[in-house]
Amino acid sequence: MNKNEKMILPSEAETIIGKYGKQTETEELALLESRGRILAEDICAGIEMPPFNKSAMDGFAVASGDNSDKFKIIETIPAGKFPEKSIGVGQCSRIMTGAPLPDGADRVIKVEVTEEENGFMYLTGVDNAGNVCVRGEDIKIGDRILLKGKMMRAAEIGVAASLGFNKIRVFKKVRAGLITTGSEIKDPGEELDPGQIYNSNGYSLSVQLLNSGADLIEKKIVEDNRTELLNELGKMIDNADLTLISGGVSMGEFDLVPDILKELGVKVHFNKVAVQPGKPTLFGTKGKKIVFGLPGNPVSTFVIFELFVKPLLMRMSGNNYKALVVRGKMEKGFKRRKIERELYVPVNYENGIIKLIDYHGSAHFVSLLGANALLKIERGLSELPPGEIVDVRQI
Ligand code: AMP
Ligand code: MG
Repeated sequence: MNKNEKMILPSEAETIIGKYGKQTETEELALLESRGRILAEDICAGIEMPPFNKSAMDGFAVASGDNSDKFKIIETIPAGKFPEKSIGVGQCSRIMTGAPLPDGADRVIKVEVTEEENGFMYLTGVDNAGNVCVRGEDIKIGDRILLKGKMMRAAEIGVAASLGFNKIRVFKKVRAGLITTGSEIKDPGEELDPGQIYNSNGYSLSVQLLNSGADLIEKKIVEDNRTELLNELGKMIDNADLTLISGGVSMGEFDLVPDILKELGVKVHFNKVAVQPGKPTLFGTKGKKIVFGLPGNPVSTFVIFELFVKPLLMRMSGNNYKALVVRGKMEKGFKRRKIERELYVPVNYENGIIKLIDYHGSAHFVSLLGANALLKIERGLSELPPGEIVDVRQI
């Protein structure tokens, strides 16, 4: 990275990123395959819910004004059968939960307060409830039930099934590629030579990509070697919609990524952001292709993914995502000396209380195990007193 390159504010970075990222195309999937995917069109009801007046109880269907002291049982209506007889005064039909109400009846007396003898039903108690689910009371024909941009989860898939949909139009997944750079990086399962470390970013970033709905088409480690990086980055940018690079974007002698990207024709929009951790964050585009270069320290890659990569990925895949922000009270005070950058600190949020955790910088990955949110400290702010009310972003 060129020392003179301009450092931009995180809000400016967001604005620039906001101008890029084409929404993916759509595809039609079988209902169950749409699990976890994002709806590409509104789903409107083609049938009512319930589709007929139905009994909410096992019991006897009667007319509500009928004060007879015994009722002749004229039919038995199990769920799934349409009634054949209408109910007159002094008559009832034995009916099961979910079965359609017969004509003439508008309430069901639950079986628990009745007795049967010689084809008649007698009341042995009182049941003042109607016990009928009225046709169309939940959903009317034409109601917009599921909105574009929603994720298909259990309830959404169940409701779509209840309306008879067996195919769902969703957004295609963003095709993402991940390159973790560094000659010191080895995958778990391999032997570490002295000076080497395991590829934690390759795994945490993979999960972050997958959790953001991306299709991880390729993941590889590339050494800090010009030719290899040029070759592998070139191929990945051609293949993927979004290329994520970890490491090699800083100011060290072997941080080769920014120059190689420029050589590959990637327009680098920024590569220095006033955020901590994550100052050497790079964002570039080549046509419709998106490239992010994230600093190698694991907390930096994690945080920068949450702040900048995830919102873009979500937008590209049609997801109406907004970071989950909750308000809480600082259990203890927080102080810092350097105030030039917007700072994100991993914290633990529980029942409205924000607890600072043991965290000593962007290499301290294990600290994230105790964190469920990020506390933002604005630029220029050096202190938060105990008891201060602040917003934290859930992770
Ligand atoms: P870099 O941004 O390449 O200068 O890397 C910054 C720090 O992050 C160095 O200590 C690297 O060893 C470490 N690092 C880089 N890539 C990874 C990775 N994939 N997994 C874990 N640590 C990494
Ligand atoms: Mg490196």
